[in-house]
Amino acid sequence: MDRKHLAMALSRIPDPPDPETKREQVRTPGDLAADFLRLARDHDSLEGKRVVDLGAGTGVLAIGALLLGAERAVAVEVEPRLLEIAQAAAENVGVGESFIGLEADVSRLEPAVVNEHMDGPVDLVIMNPPFGADRRSRHAGGDRVFLSLALRLAPVVYSLHLAETKAFLSAYAQDAGFRFEVLKEMDFPLPARFAHHRSNLQSKRVVVARYTRDRK
Ligand code: SAH
Repeated sequence: MDRKHLAMALSRIPDPPDPETKREQVRTPGDLAADFLRLARDHDSLEGKRVVDLGAGTGVLAIGALLLGAERAVAVEVEPRLLEIAQAAAENVGVGESFIGLEADVSRLEPAVVNEHMDGPVDLVIMNPPFGADRRSRHAGGDRVFLSLALRLAPVVYSLHLAETKAFLSAYAQDAGFRFEVLKEMDFPLPARFAHHRSNLQSKRVVVARYTRDRK
């Protein structure tokens, strides 16, 4: 599937409805999701892979991975109503049988529980976790629990993060025995409620990070 058709298919996946203010729910736009997934495909291939999407929202990354040939995608999300939308969206594009919704809180989830939904070891984690983009909130840096679980789940992890947290992420990865690289930087549009601005949309600089477990 080429970039344009992937981006179009992913753009049709619904946004989270009236997002809760307590949690940051900003879906990845279709074109950004397509670029993110194509980077994963080009570096590690998605063909036949077992993939986990942490904080899956309405499923854009998990569904996109399946469209690019992944064998199974487990989508972990704490909000069941978002998983329902994701499941329907997966069915709409013909990948419903390979899409597994798992309602769970990432901060309390054990890797073994995720593995129960896979028929083998997890190959790849792909995620756009909450950034903690609103620095005034106590959720700033909310992506850390996601990273902690991701690095325990799979030898290869792709994630979107605020560019300003790069140094932290690199040190974190190294401590956990992973190599950290930034594959791309891009502007991520944020709805006004996360911005300090009056404008409707402000964007944040984000990075696509790839983590790979060091061979021992
Ligand atoms: N990955 C999706 C959604 C990104 S928004 C996309 O790219 O479009 C982040 C998502 O993480 C939201 O849907 C939010 O409900 C979910 N989330 C936040 N905290 C969570 C937690 N502790 N456990 C599981 N999901 C969580």
